Order: sequence, then structure tokens, then C-alpha cells
Amino acid sequence: MRTCNRVLTAALLGSALLGSTIAAAQQAAESQPSAQPATATAPDATQSAPAAAQPAQASQPDSQPDATPAAPPATMDQVVNLFIAHEHALIKTLSNRTPVVETYLQNLSSDPQLGPVPSGDHYFLGRMDMGESVDRKDYLKEEDRGFQTRLMGGFQKLYKVQYQPLGFSWMVYADHTDFDREHYDFSYKRREFLGDIRCLVFDVTPKKTAGRGRFLGRIWVEDQNYNIVRLNGTYSPAPRNSMFFHMDSWRLNLIPGYWVPSYIYSEEGDFSAGTKNKLAFKAQTRIWGYDLKKGSKDDELTQIRVDSVKDDSPTAQDASPLQAEREWQQQAEDNVVERLTAAGLLAPEGDVDHVLQTVVNNLEVTNNIDLPRPVRTRVLLTSPLETFSVGNTIVISRGLIDVLPDEASLAAVLAHELGHIVLGHNLGSKYAFNDRMLFSDDATYSNMGFKHIPEEETAADKKAIELLKNSPYAQKLDNVGLFLKALQQRAGDLGALLTTHLGNQLAENGTVTRLTALEQQGPALDNNKLDQIAALPLGGRVKVNPWNDKAEMVKTAPVAITSARDKMPFEVTPFYPRLARFGDAAPNAAPTTAANTNSGN
Ligand SMILES: [Zn+2]
Repeated sequence: MRTCNRVLTAALLGSALLGSTIAAAQQAAESQPSAQPATATAPDATQSAPAAAQPAQASQPDSQPDATPAAPPATMDQVVNLFIAHEHALIKTLSNRTPVVETYLQNLSSDPQLGPVPSGDHYFLGRMDMGESVDRKDYLKEEDRGFQTRLMGGFQKLYKVQYQPLGFSWMVYADHTDFDREHYDFSYKRREFLGDIRCLVFDVTPKKTAGRGRFLGRIWVEDQNYNIVRLNGTYSPAPRNSMFFHMDSWRLNLIPGYWVPSYIYSEEGDFSAGTKNKLAFKAQTRIWGYDLKKGSKDDELTQIRVDSVKDDSPTAQDASPLQAEREWQQQAEDNVVERLTAAGLLAPEGDVDHVLQTVVNNLEVTNNIDLPRPVRTRVLLTSPLETFSVGNTIVISRGLIDVLPDEASLAAVLAHELGHIVLGHNLGSKYAFNDRMLFSDDATYSNMGFKHIPEEETAADKKAIELLKNSPYAQKLDNVGLFLKALQQRAGDLGALLTTHLGNQLAENGTVTRLTALEQQGPALDNNKLDQIAALPLGGRVKVNPWNDKAEMVKTAPVAITSARDKMPFEVTPFYPRLARFGDAAPNAAPTTAANTNSGN
């Protein structure tokens, strides 16, 4: 497999070097994580299945609602009865699930040239218990939340703005307990397509006697089985001293018969002339890991793995000291990858890894790097910009892949980790002891870490630049410089996005520290140059299947940038997934359109 890879890539490089294009261009046609629809296919035939790939049969909910009603409903009243019944069935079906929920929020201030720009940010990551009362456990220990988490949404307004992470995920359902005709009025508005799905649109208003914190807004109901696929609105009336966010909540048809809450966008703030509202933010909430095991102690004890124990190799004997050291590192690496995947933090190996591995291969082949074990790559499913490596596995976050403007920039961040591997900066061998894997999922960040000492960071940067200068990306390092300049411009305001949880930071205290030699080179950053795309918004490149955590590259048609405000580097945008039914999900569907407007360069 390894040899095969090398031959394939070497052949690509060979032909490219003979011709007028460099290997990067050749690769771009097959593997570049760009938004161009025609070119962004996986580099080999083992391309993974579409996003909504069928989850394993055993993992699907036991009960399914009737896929097709006996007879189509004749009146809107019957439609209302159907979607109310299906909403209750969904709540019941998901009640034993504890998906991962991530909220990334950017505070906004008004810039005369660029409009609302990030002026601060917050990050929340945890597991959501979708049982009796929707609740959450946080991966990140932050300020004490106490009774405030019990408030349904929003934040304390009276003394200071305090965001409640649970508030952002509240709109997974319209109303967890009382979604019925006693509490709500439903008013049919019109038909409308969302992606491939024809929907019936209803306005939902709480009855006067329904009490506080009831859903107020609009729902979209697909017209085949009558499930809610989108909710847009807020909760009303708010309890004293707090308020509810406005939210736009999207569901995907990831398992037969059910549309599963997947993305929630929140936004507050008004920058029109004369308004005095100081509060302005936008936030993306992503939910994934629905199919993760609950990870109770009972599960661990009953999981007995049966591996093949017979060693048929002709030279079976004790490992040499060096071999033993490598075996040990491999064991640690495998343990870490397995544990992070079980915690819902790593995507299973897939489509995106083919792209990453092609880039790593390009660096290895052109630098004659021949490691005893192949370098593997995996996608960290979270938004903060980070990379780290454990053993020979390079891990890069979804958020970082999203914001990188081109393949050369991707190569640069991967080259830094490859530098650590080549230089033997091996971290994490302590994880070869299996007792170190026994912690609850929400304690992952306090039990794992892969941060290097400053001397190793400097050495890895130096090695990375050496690798890049010999690589097909050598002529494109100006682009990497531009990306780092854009990162520097926003680094002071995006502390949460730049706070890593497992690896080294790209920037410390508002100053970019990674690959600073490249930051110095290349043209100046110019927001008004519309063809200069230094960094992309979040959410435009990698799409995650919230049921099985598979990650794939997004393919969207480029949308022309018409002003500096369209660039939105490192910013969050609304979600606009192209909805499709289970089984015929469009593999090219993008999680957002707004975010993709920038990736068309
Ligand atoms: Zn490093």
C-alpha cells in the first residue's frame, strides 16, 4: 500500500515536473481542498461514500415511525397532527443519545470598511444528554454556571453578558415537553423548497396561557413524511433578567425516517445608524457524534476484543531495542487515535485523509523522506485552529482546514508536524499504558496533551520551511505568508479560536508564532484587493456527518466576491445546508452557502 502510494505520487510528480505545470497543479486537479466543483474529487478510487452514508444497521434506532402514512393527509389540520406526532417520536428516539455539541461565538463590532467584524470570541464544547431534560456536560471547564444553566437560553442581562452554552443548543427541538395544540397555534403559510426537499411552511405561536419560554417562529415540514426539517425563531416570553437568542436550526435526514438536529446559527445585534444595542454576536452550533457509545464502565468491561495472536512471520523473534521502541510508539499512537475517536473528537479515517495524505506524500517524496512507518492523518472534528502529532499520525482540526486558502497553506501546516516526526520529537508514548485511556469522555482534554517545548517548535518550523522549499509548493509560499498575515491581523480578537486544546498554538497572546519566517515574505495584505484571498470563513471546506462523524470535502460552485466584506476571513456565517433525503443525499452538498462564497478563488 505504501509502495503503491509512492509510485502513484512519484509518477504524478514526474510527469508534472516534465511538463509546464508543477505537481501542485496536477494534484489540484484531483485533490486540492478547494471549492471548485469539477476539481475537488478525492485522489483515488477508494473515495468514501456520500455524507449521509448509511450508518451500521445495528446502530440505528430500534423503532421507526411509519415511513409512509396510509393515505396522504387531506387537510392542513391533519398535517399538523402528523408533524406533532413525528416530533414526539424524534424526541423519544434520540432520548438515549449524547451527541457532541460545539458552539463557537464571535462578538461583533462595526468597522467602517468591513462592516461587522469579530472583536472577541467564545468557545464551548461538550456532550448533550438528549434525555428527559436536555442537559450538557462540558469538555472544557469554564466559569461556574450553576443555576443559570437551567435557564432555557440566553444570558443574564442585568449585570454582565454571560453566555450559557446550553442556550445555543436549545433549539434542537421547538419544545421538548409541550409541542402540541394545547400550547401552540399553527398557521400554514406556503410551500417552499429547501435544497431537494419540498416543504410546507408554518408559523408557530404560543397560546397566551402557554407560559414562559415557548417557541415563537417558523417551521419547515418536509411534504413526504411530515417531519420538521428547519426551525427559525426564538422563545417567548423571557424570564426576568434574561433573554433568548434568535436561532436558525437545521436537521438532516441521516437515518431512515428521522431528521436529526445538526446545525444551529444564532445572531444578535443591529448596526444600523442610531441604534444603541451594544450586544452583537454571531454563533455556530454544530452537533455530531449521535452514534457514539455512552461509554459507561459497564460497556468497557463487557468489551472483550479478540485479536489474532498467531505470528506467522518467518523471523518471529524478540524485537530489537529499536524495534521495541517503535512498537511502543505505535501502541501509544493507536491508543490515542482510538480514544479520541471514541470521545467524538476525531473523524474516522476517510475522504479528507486522502487529500491530507496526498499533500504529506508530496512533501515526503520530494524530500526523500523514508520513515519506518507511514505517516497517517486524521481530522479533529472541532473548530479551533490546531494541529498536533502523536507517533506518526498528524491531526489537523476541521476549523483549520476550513480557513486555509489553498493547498500550499495546507502543506505548510502539515509540514510543521511532519518536521516533528522527521526530527523524532515523539510525544505521547506514555499513552502506551492502557490505564491512561480510562477516563470519561468529558475529561479528554485534561487527560491528553501533545504540546512541544519551544525549542522543538522552533526546530519543527525550521524543518518545515526546508521541506516546503524542496516541495511542489516552493513557488506558492507567498500565499502561506498571506494566510499568516491575515491570521496575525485577527489573532488579537480571536483568542478562543486560537486556543488549542491538545496541540501547540498557532499564536500566543495575539502574536502568530507558527512559521514566522514565511509570514515575513510575500505581498502585503490588502482587504480591498478582491482577488487576494488570504483566509476563508469557517465551515466552507469540511462537512461532517453528525450521525457517524465521517468528514468529507465540500464541493460548491464558486460565488464571486464583490466587496471586501465578502471575504469574511476566520468568521462564522449562517448555515444553509442543501437538504436531501436519506439515501439520495447529494454528496456535493455544502453545509453553508454564505461561508462558501469565499472559496471560489
Ligand atoms: Zn509543533
